[in-house]
Amino acid sequence: MSEVRVRFAPSPTGFVHIGSLRTALYNYLFARHNKGKLIIRIEDTDRSRYVEGAVENLLNTLKWAGIEYDEGPEKPSPCGPFYQSERLDIYRKHITILLQNGSAYPCFCSAERLEKMRTEQQKNNMPVRYDGTCRTLDGAEAEQRMASEEHVIRMRIPQSGETVVKDEIRGIVRFQNELIDEQVLIKADGFPTYHFANVVDDHLMGITHVIRGEEWLPSTPKHILLYEYFGWNKPVFAHLPLLLNPDRSKLSKRQGDVAVESYREKGYLKEALLNFVALLGWHESGDEEIFPLDELIEKFRLERVSKSGAVFNLEKLNWMNGVYLRKISEEEYLQLARQEMERAGLKQADPQVNRKIALAVRNGLTTLKDIPQRAGMFFSDEIESYSRDAMEWLSKSGTKALLKVMLEAAEKQPEITIDSFKEVMKEVQSKTGIKGKELWMPVRAAMTGMTEGPELPLVIEVLGKQRLISFLRQAIRL
Ligand code: GLU
Repeated sequence: MSEVRVRFAPSPTGFVHIGSLRTALYNYLFARHNKGKLIIRIEDTDRSRYVEGAVENLLNTLKWAGIEYDEGPEKPSPCGPFYQSERLDIYRKHITILLQNGSAYPCFCSAERLEKMRTEQQKNNMPVRYDGTCRTLDGAEAEQRMASEEHVIRMRIPQSGETVVKDEIRGIVRFQNELIDEQVLIKADGFPTYHFANVVDDHLMGITHVIRGEEWLPSTPKHILLYEYFGWNKPVFAHLPLLLNPDRSKLSKRQGDVAVESYREKGYLKEALLNFVALLGWHESGDEEIFPLDELIEKFRLERVSKSGAVFNLEKLNWMNGVYLRKISEEEYLQLARQEMERAGLKQADPQVNRKIALAVRNGLTTLKDIPQRAGMFFSDEIESYSRDAMEWLSKSGTKALLKVMLEAAEKQPEITIDSFKEVMKEVQSKTGIKGKELWMPVRAAMTGMTEGPELPLVIEVLGKQRLISFLRQAIRL
């Protein structure tokens, strides 16, 4: 097989949608798995939808996620960088080929006439599409009018028969030609439409596989016809399943729910987000769900992408993020934790103490944002609030006595370390005869205000003797 060349072709119209990240990721995985190339092409010919800063944001997001590309905006290749708005000459040159061979024609219909036509079609429950008024204009006349009148260029669609899309994921999909709209290829302002620029570029950039969202499937017969009109070889098409809410409705459009940036801000790790997004439509044969990027590259195959919609399950993402927060190296974790704590204004003078705090709270984290929340207690001289469960343990009948014994034992220690804390607890256990959960839960509740969370010896070590004693007194006073 010749070299695999795939592309991710976003339109810079705002934030990066989770679905876009999936498209980028699948293209990346497919390219790396097949030792091919990934190309990024910015499809920015629709000036009315252009959003300032969107491209930077997109490239930043790809960088953050670790999706590296071989050719594209920041990596000029013989025909890059790839901004379609810089390639207008190329599209102009190519449209003349289609005008000459008769597979495209100029259309002079005014916006008002087209509007009236659409309203009429809607009223009569007919499919909304161009009615072909300019399709049969005399060639010489059309050419003359092109010189002086405003016009668009449309593609000709055969008025009978069907166009067949062979899709790697969906199999054979047939489209009745008479239902396909005679799409505008070049707009009145001279800019190409998505369909035209997309096909010309896919061909010129040697794209072998077009992997994109299912919403583009209805456009594919138009693209296939364009390949035929040019006499070009077609790429392989693969349309990825829709993303759904847990109730199987189409995935929410609210930016906070679907923007990659917002997950990043909420403290999700790129490792977790990529693994999670990879599973939106693709899965391995077994039950395993944790696949770091290198394993995804090794395992990813288009044959294992499913046809049916993929449900976006936030609970699963949360679980996965917790898994990765414990899976990444200690060094990497500490760096992220330091950033989070600094952002929240939590910083002790001694870096060793910061390190201990970060490690103490690591267990049980869901997102990075939980770090400052859990670390807060190490920066305060009293427990600010007790959870309901913690209160329940603290108000049990024997608790006060238990904590008093602990206070006495702790006061005897010159300082509190992990080891001397063990001594204290041994003493409490032998004096009171209480052990297991009955012993540890009240202690945990008194020390942290919670019944779950960081490992207790780690907490105690960071708290030190003074705060251990004052937290015990606070709980006894309750
Ligand atoms: N520019 C299109 C988009 O924003 C690309 C679709 C395709 O991959 O062909 O999704």
